[in-house]
Amino acid sequence: MAQTHDTERKVDGMRFDTALLHARRHDPFAVESTTPPIYQTSAYLFDEEERHAAVAGGRAPGYVYTRLGNPTVAAFERRMAALEGGFAAVATASGMAAIFNALVNVLRCGDVVIAGANLYGGSVELFENLAAFGIETRYVAEVTPDSLDAVHDERCRVVFAETISNPRLDVLDIPAVADWTHEHGLGFIVDNTVATPYLCQPLALGADVVVESASKFINGHSNAISGVIVDSGRGPWDPERFPTMAKWSRLGRMAYIAKLRQGLFRDTGACLAPQNAFLNCTGLETLALRMERACANALKLAQWFEQSGLVDEVRYPGLAQNPGRDLAEREFGGRGFGALVAIRVGSRERAFEVIDAVKIPLRVSNIGDTKTLITHPASTVFVDNTDEEREAAGVWSDTIRLSIGIEDIDDLIADFEQALTGARN
Ligand SMILES: *Cc1c(COP(=O)(O)O)cnc(C)c1O
Repeated sequence: MAQTHDTERKVDGMRFDTALLHARRHDPFAVESTTPPIYQTSAYLFDEEERHAAVAGGRAPGYVYTRLGNPTVAAFERRMAALEGGFAAVATASGMAAIFNALVNVLRCGDVVIAGANLYGGSVELFENLAAFGIETRYVAEVTPDSLDAVHDERCRVVFAETISNPRLDVLDIPAVADWTHEHGLGFIVDNTVATPYLCQPLALGADVVVESASKFINGHSNAISGVIVDSGRGPWDPERFPTMAKWSRLGRMAYIAKLRQGLFRDTGACLAPQNAFLNCTGLETLALRMERACANALKLAQWFEQSGLVDEVRYPGLAQNPGRDLAEREFGGRGFGALVAIRVGSRERAFEVIDAVKIPLRVSNIGDTKTLITHPASTVFVDNTDEEREAAGVWSDTIRLSIGIEDIDDLIADFEQALTGARN
């Protein structure tokens, strides 16, 4: 049974904001430094070959080669496992590497993934590439028990969805979908990039595995590409239905993560660079402060857009008329509704005028920075998707996507006001 969200949720006995700074900070390999040392090394030195053999053979703890493991990367993985309420984590070179590895760890040719049509464009393209390996993706307009019932058959193995979709900003009913996947024996993998564990811990709500692009809010400063996979240790990886897990299921709750570490993740070389793991550990310390401010700013800006009459449509999960508002309130425990806001302004031309007229936001295709970011998703993030894929993801020719930063909200509102009134003439 999925649990309801605990607003006083604890991580290692600490409240979330404290855990960001102090959870699992002990590094068994570090010499009394307050931040994780950067182990900028490819390989590790052994006094005796016997010990090398023991570590390489998995009979003793330690590190052999950075593609397989690195203490700085492990420091980031420990923190992410704690903050997502997971059993263990594997950091990856990018968010896309996390999504690819989380899926292929359990799937094989002939299997079907059910996914939301509102997915991030990069995920849609990845799933298209997986088709060449016999892994099919079936899309549903929105991931709900009813829509899953409509496409489900005996080939389906995994449901993949985003906590808050980007940029349509639908909120996923994680407990309801988890109840459905558990009942049908499917795995449930959630992309938590936009919500982050500050707003939502999908594993506590019943998801089996969480993936994240840590390049976004986790890092928070747009200075490193990275991803992470966090496992609950209780996925439904019964070898009858997931035959590639057969060799690993004797490991019990370690099966998924052990296969990942010793399987395609290792063999495709999807490892995170130690320098990037260090930057993420530093960024993580302020996740709560950044999210608190960005969510508050996003709500105020969305409300301002709505009452200004200067835009045709505002999408933001925190707006009173948004259909996902009650669900978001429940699922995010009142901490906020995320930092992304989408507006529509009438035409592609006007969208470009407005984007060019703002002075504060950076024109970039990224999300999750301390600074406010603005883009025209149809021409950037979704440039390689078809019109149908774009519309399913809520990307219209006049859609502008904003990733709100931690600036003073009055400056942001004034900037959008001048851009929207100026661009009109
Ligand atoms: C950016 C993003 C990804 C991909 O992450 P990279 O770190 O760019 O590889 C995946 N999912 C979502 C929701 C994203 O926003």
